[in-house]
Amino acid sequence: MLPLKDPTLLRQQAYINGQWCDADNGATFPVTNPATGDQLGTIPHMGAAETSRAIAAANDAWPAWRKKTAKERSAILRKWNDLLLANVDDLALLMTAEQGKPLAEAKGEIAYAASFLEWFGEEAKRINGDTMESPWADRRIVVIKQPIGVCAAITPWNFPAAMITRKVGPALAAGCPIVLKPAEATPYSALALAVLAERAGVPPGVFSVVTGDARAIGGEMTSNPTVRKLSFTGSTQVGRLLMQQSAPTVKKLSLELGGNAPFIVFDDADLDAAVEGAIASKYRNAGQTCVCANRIYVQDGVYDAFAQKLVAAVSQLKVGNGQDAGVTQGPLIDQKAVEKVEQHIADALSKGGRVLTGGKRHALGHSFFEPTVIVDVTAEMRVAKEETFGPMAPLFRFKTEDDVLALANDTEFGLASYFYSRDIGRIWRVAEGLESGMVGINSGLISNEIAPFGGVKQSGLGREGSKYGMDDYLVIKYMCIGGI
Ligand code: ADP
Repeated sequence: MLPLKDPTLLRQQAYINGQWCDADNGATFPVTNPATGDQLGTIPHMGAAETSRAIAAANDAWPAWRKKTAKERSAILRKWNDLLLANVDDLALLMTAEQGKPLAEAKGEIAYAASFLEWFGEEAKRINGDTMESPWADRRIVVIKQPIGVCAAITPWNFPAAMITRKVGPALAAGCPIVLKPAEATPYSALALAVLAERAGVPPGVFSVVTGDARAIGGEMTSNPTVRKLSFTGSTQVGRLLMQQSAPTVKKLSLELGGNAPFIVFDDADLDAAVEGAIASKYRNAGQTCVCANRIYVQDGVYDAFAQKLVAAVSQLKVGNGQDAGVTQGPLIDQKAVEKVEQHIADALSKGGRVLTGGKRHALGHSFFEPTVIVDVTAEMRVAKEETFGPMAPLFRFKTEDDVLALANDTEFGLASYFYSRDIGRIWRVAEGLESGMVGINSGLISNEIAPFGGVKQSGLGREGSKYGMDDYLVIKYMCIGGI
């Protein structure tokens, strides 16, 4: 058992309408620790029927929740935020056990997750309408913003807490109830959040967590007409499917999908800063974030120097069980993830790439992988088109600014991009020219609750976090007031 200070945070049941419950048929599935292969416990394997009940409960809970004042909803979100922070050690331990990321990163994620509850709790008080100058003397134009209604959320395993609060925070703040399906690999973080939501005073039905069969739960969430909005973070492939499934009931969608982030180092860059940024952007969470640098483009004049410095920095990374002190890179989430990294490396090597460091499974076994750097990478290799989602940095060589912009934009994705330069003209040109929703300029880390997170092209729809993040959970109503 995990040494939790508060063992009641580990729940092996789903949370529907304020009740902790099992699947109707009693089915369960195991949850394992990727660092050890040990089973941590089980979780209910639910399907459409349980999801439908959670949606009905959300609909029943909606009128009372939306009637609360913004200040009342805000106070509950604030309390939930405080409870996350007060339980950070336990929540981080749970997360590391089911997800693998180092404890320090897990603690950072809990603080990040809490920040969305705090931020949207504050924003709840600023859902402001509008009045407009009327073209008619006897009528007035008033615009109000209202909660869209019952929401559904499907979240991934790479940020088991923050991807949840980034959706549930604004939904609750806006006055919407929400039903969540967390990723199969990381349900305990989600259920611990539900424990704390209950303690914070979130009423039954306003936030439910359904675990189990992704297809069946997703099928119900997308086909049920009571659900007005779906927010999804995950692969582009599943995002497309959910979009299709949501078409018959015309749901509003927020989609945070795949990325294929370019990370560009120009000749005039501060190389040490670029290396530091590349380490943060590429190897954080063992390379398993949708904003991780996937393609590193280095200008001819600094290519060899950058490669050398990057290899030196990578050699400082410590691979191991995330629970152990000093570990900076945990295991990948599962064997499938390891195989994808291996395939990308084999493909690159077969087409002329060279491994400078790493390149294979780690001696620790399980799903541990060596932090890897590959040089002489070209546009013909798979890594140029596909997200690796692992600790492998491929270094492409480029000559001119125009060349690299064309290469960087030659992808269906457009989530994050990064570049390092000290030239102010170039900074504006390149930042404006990159086809992505977010650009890190001389910075490898960009995410926080105040800035709008989201993509363009096939990386998704909508924005999360920031003052814009609330819009996804609101509808606009125009009132034409006559008889004046
Ligand atoms: P990843 O490759 O990061 O696991 P996925 O898109 O497969 O990305 O998973 C993200 C989330 O989507 C998870 O919660 C997963 O269970 C869910 N999911 C996967 N397939 C489906 C589906 N067909 N319908 C609904 N949800 C799905």
